[in-house]
Amino acid sequence: MDELFKSAPQSAPKFAADRMLARLARWLRLLGADVLFDPALGGAKLLARARAEGRLTLTRDKRLRTAPDALYIESHLFRDQLREVFARFPFDPRRDAFTRCSHCNEPLAVVGRDAVVRRVPPFVYASHERFALCPRCGRVYWGATHPERIRGELDSMGL
Ligand SMILES: [Zn+2]
Repeated sequence: MDELFKSAPQSAPKFAADRMLARLARWLRLLGADVLFDPALGGAKLLARARAEGRLTLTRDKRLRTAPDALYIESHLFRDQLREVFARFPFDPRRDAFTRCSHCNEPLAVVGRDAVVRRVPPFVYASHERFALCPRCGRVYWGATHPERIRGELDSMGL
């Protein structure tokens, strides 16, 4: 995979994921990709919105299999789905990881501990200087939990 990443674009492409791909969408966001995910959008509506915003559509909808700017995802297993995306659109998953909220796609703001004092457990507050805060939903991310688990997952997938 190292060879693949040498020729990879600087940043992840922008995606739009259909409603069958909720878990894949969350993971791509954790890896730094801008992913539109709206369960209300499907089929032609999703494709039209994605085109208008310059996004590549990721879909399990067989009707969209031949659309030129869509990637039909074969697998129903999210680890294999992630591999399918990387095989077609390689980007370095460690470059922009943990810069985007996995729930609402908003870029995270790096903040000092005082900004999150009432939002994290005391031991977490005490053991970290900096946190990543989602300005839209208020979720807080920190170094010792989410990233390590996710890096472990990526290692196990060979990404
Ligand atoms: Zn958020």
